[in-house]
Amino acid sequence: MSYEKVEVPEEGEKITLEEGTEDELVVPDEPTIPIIHGDGIGQDVGPAAQKVLETAAQATGHDIHWMRVYAGESARERYDENLPDDTVEALKEFRVSIKGPLTTPVGAGFRSLNVALRKRLDLYANVRPTYHLDGVPSPVKDPGQMDMVTFRENTEDVYAGIEWEAGTDEVQKAKEFVENEMGEDDTIHDGPVGIGVKPITEFGTKRLVRKAIDYALEHDRDSVTLVHKGNIMKYTEGAFRDWGYEVAEEEYGDEVISEDTLWEERDGEAPEDAVVVNDRIADNMLQQVLTRTDEYDVIATMNLNGDYLSDACGAQIGGLGIAPGSNFGDGRFLAEPVHGSAPKYAGQDKVNPTAMILSGRIMLERLGWTEAADLVRDAVEETIDSGKVTYDLERQIEGGEKLATSEFADAVCENIESMS
Ligand code: NAD
Repeated sequence: MSYEKVEVPEEGEKITLEEGTEDELVVPDEPTIPIIHGDGIGQDVGPAAQKVLETAAQATGHDIHWMRVYAGESARERYDENLPDDTVEALKEFRVSIKGPLTTPVGAGFRSLNVALRKRLDLYANVRPTYHLDGVPSPVKDPGQMDMVTFRENTEDVYAGIEWEAGTDEVQKAKEFVENEMGEDDTIHDGPVGIGVKPITEFGTKRLVRKAIDYALEHDRDSVTLVHKGNIMKYTEGAFRDWGYEVAEEEYGDEVISEDTLWEERDGEAPEDAVVVNDRIADNMLQQVLTRTDEYDVIATMNLNGDYLSDACGAQIGGLGIAPGSNFGDGRFLAEPVHGSAPKYAGQDKVNPTAMILSGRIMLERLGWTEAADLVRDAVEETIDSGKVTYDLERQIEGGEKLATSEFADAVCENIESMS
C-alpha cells in the first residue's frame, strides 16, 4: 500500500501475523511503528515517550523505526481532515502502534476520534495495567497493594453510541415503541426525554473475557473478576456475567475454574497455576478496590463500569500523569495514555510524560520485548524515586527536583543506559 498522508521511514520492517493464527505477531528486530503524537500536550509527551522507548529498544538489541501518522489538530493543519484514511490504514497494516491524546469537543462538533479509531480498528479491549512505582505520591496508605489490569469492553454499552436527542422525531419513535410495543406505558415521565440503547452481546462479551483470561494465564495472574450491575440490569449486565462464566467453564479445561466450582468441588483449594474466575457487583467493586486492594488481579467488565473503575484505580497509583493504557484487538494493538490533551498546558514542556512512556511499555510487552519493557519500568521508577519529577509530582514531594517534560525523558534515558 502506498501512503500520501503519513511519513514512511526509510528503514524498518513490517510486523506480520503468524500464518494460521489471528493474534500471534511475528516481530522483526527493527519494526516500523506508527505513532500519533496527539493534540494539546501530545506534542510534549509524544516525543518524550518516543525517545525513551527507542533508547530501551536499542539497549536490548532492537530498534524502532517510527512512522509519523496524523489525527486531530495535526491532521486538520496538514490535510484539512480529522482522521485521514491513510492514518487508519497504516495503523491496520503495521498492527502495533502508539498514540497520544486527541481532543474531543463536548456536546457539538465531531464525535470522539479515539472512539472512531478503536471502532475502525476493532480494538475491542481497552487494557489498563495499574501498579504503583516507588516514590509516586498516593492518596492511600499502602499503594503498593495495587497491581491490577482492567479489561474494559470497547465497542458496546455506551460506546455503541445509540441515543436520541430530546425533541427529535427519532426519540419520539423510540418512546412510542417502548410504550406501545413493549408495554412500558407507565415508565417514562412526560415531557422532553433523551433515550439511549445499551447493547451487550454474547459475541462482544465472550471475546473480551477470553482476552482477559488469556492475559491472566500468560502473565501468571491468579484471578479474573467479572464486574457487572446484573442485579438491576439482568439482561445486559447479568448476561455479561453469565456469558463470562460460560467462557471460563467451557473453553479452558483445568486451567480456569469458577469460584462456585472451587467451593462446591474443591473446598476453596484452587489447582496449581489455575486462574479463578469470580464476579462482583460494580458498586461493591469500587469499594473493594480501596478496602481489599490486593485481592484483585485481572478485571473484565463492560464499557461504562470499566471507565469508572479504571480511573478510580488509577487515582490510587498517582493519577493521570502516571496511568498507562492500551487497546487490544485480534492481531492489532494501540497504546495510549489514559489522560486527555490538557489544552491549557499544551506546548509548555511541562507535563508528566510517564503515562505515555508506560503506555509504550505495554507496547514493548506486546512486541514480546520483555527486557526492554522491564527496563523502562525500572528506569522510570528510579528517576521518580530519586526525586526527579515533573511539576505535578514535585508539588507533592518534599525536596523534589522539578524537571521539564523533555528533561524527565532525558533522565529516564540516562537511567536506561546506566542500567543496561
Ligand atoms: P485531561 O486528562 O486532558 O486533563 C485534566 C487535567 O489532568 C489537566 O488539566 C492536568 O491538570 C491533568 N493532567 C492530564 N494529563 C497530565 C499529564 N500528563 N501530566 C500532568 N498533569 C496531567 O482531561 P480533560 O481536561 O477532561 O480533557 C481534555 C481533552 O482531552 C478533551 O477534549 C477530552 O475529550 C480529551 N481526552 C482525550 C483522551 C484520549 O485521547 N484518549 C482521553 C481523555 C480525554
